[in-house]
Amino acid sequence: MERKVRVRFAPSPTGALHLGGVRTALFNYLFARHYGGDFLLRIEDTDQTRYVPGAEEYIIESLKWCGLKVDEGVGAGGEYGPYRQSERKAIYKAYAEQLIASGNAYYSFDTAEELDALRKACEEQGETFIYNARSRKKLKNSLNLSPEEVEKLLNNGTSYVIRFKMPENEELCLHDVIRGEVHFNSSLLDDKVLYKSDGMPTYHLANIVDDHLMKITHVIRGEEWLPSLPLHVLLYKAFGWEDTMPVFAHLPLILKPVGNGKLSKRDGNKMGFPVFPMEFTDPATGEKWHGYKEDGYFPEAFINMLALLGWNPGTEQEIFSMQELCELFTLDRVKKSGAKFDPEKTKWFNHKYLVAKSDAELATLVGETLTAEQLEFNRSKVERICGLMKERYNFVKDLYEDCRFFFVAPTEYNEKDCKKYWKDDAPVLMKELLELLKSINDYSFQNTEKVISAWITEKQLGFGKVMNPFRVAIVGAAKGPHMFDVIEIIGKEETIRRMEKAIATL
Ligand code: GLU
Repeated sequence: MERKVRVRFAPSPTGALHLGGVRTALFNYLFARHYGGDFLLRIEDTDQTRYVPGAEEYIIESLKWCGLKVDEGVGAGGEYGPYRQSERKAIYKAYAEQLIASGNAYYSFDTAEELDALRKACEEQGETFIYNARSRKKLKNSLNLSPEEVEKLLNNGTSYVIRFKMPENEELCLHDVIRGEVHFNSSLLDDKVLYKSDGMPTYHLANIVDDHLMKITHVIRGEEWLPSLPLHVLLYKAFGWEDTMPVFAHLPLILKPVGNGKLSKRDGNKMGFPVFPMEFTDPATGEKWHGYKEDGYFPEAFINMLALLGWNPGTEQEIFSMQELCELFTLDRVKKSGAKFDPEKTKWFNHKYLVAKSDAELATLVGETLTAEQLEFNRSKVERICGLMKERYNFVKDLYEDCRFFFVAPTEYNEKDCKKYWKDDAPVLMKELLELLKSINDYSFQNTEKVISAWITEKQLGFGKVMNPFRVAIVGAAKGPHMFDVIEIIGKEETIRRMEKAIATL
């Protein structure tokens, strides 16, 4: 019988969720939706030394902001819980012992100091120490000690770890959906620690046990986990769970915008773009990191950009709704080579989503800021302004900044623009224009354009000579849309008020 697709996003709460982590979550989510499966959130917090307070909440909030609804897991509940590994502590020990009983794992009593000394000694001879088939025979573990000695050490509370007994010199040919066949030789791998005497499993053991118990069908995760694949597959075999072993898919790296290598959080700070979905303050260092959310990105734009980092639809289409992504996403369209991150393209996506919003939607967003600033506004005017201006911007906050003059008369005038456009003849010229403006009653674009243009032609003044100082007077700087649009929106009274003030001030 075909099993129901079940995938999980399994972050460790060791800090803010990097955009690479969000992409992993997204691909899992899309995969689940495409096949009508379940998307789980499991928190892998077995390494208490790396635990960062607030990180779990951050992860949950970020997924929410991105619109990645969790079907089952931390924060969502479900019948395979608990979904936080620290709450599953009691489960793992029996599995570690099962592996010892079947001869696939063993107790190791070597102290950290002893292992360090071995590592050093090897280094001095230009070699690397590996705890594996070759070295384990000489070390302090249950493979070499007598059962009585082992019993004694365990009973007197000697600290130990349980290690996986990696087979010697086995050629492993494993399958990854994205990479095809991947080959490993087991002699190059070490006897990884699975369980520690403090009662905590390591990532490897907990991850496999939980994927099995939670009936995970596909493991979709970052390429950095590919080296763990042979151990994971061998663990499935050792447990006798091969029949239901999940399918593995390791996603390509996300690369720096320039140069080589993996995109790091430092790249973001260096080049001025966020690498985190939301703002994050590191509780240990107080260091603050930008977030896409607070920087004014729409979650849809952020998601659209991430979807194309490693996946492609096979067509030229670039803009996808979440619904479309769910319909189109399959793993065979995920490539294995790294995907270059492009911060400019991310802005472009935001622009596309901004322009696609209706004037009414944008007016709501702009209106929120106007209200927060206690500025009075007329809703239909704001809509008109948004429609007029949106093509120019990537972010609502920039649109707002540039449109603020519609609602607040200039209190200062841009110095450079004044020097350039408010020449000696400006006061006289503007006084004449003011008289004309007073005589007009119909402030529609069509009418003011007709009347003022006729006046300029008749006086043989040149358009720029009039319109530039006019703009400085009304807007406060040489920016903004067409002046006839501006005065139609602010209206006659306000136009005259601003002209009088400018003439008196400048
Ligand atoms: N806890 C691992 C991480 O932080 C999960 C890796 C996996 O998906 O197996 O990425």
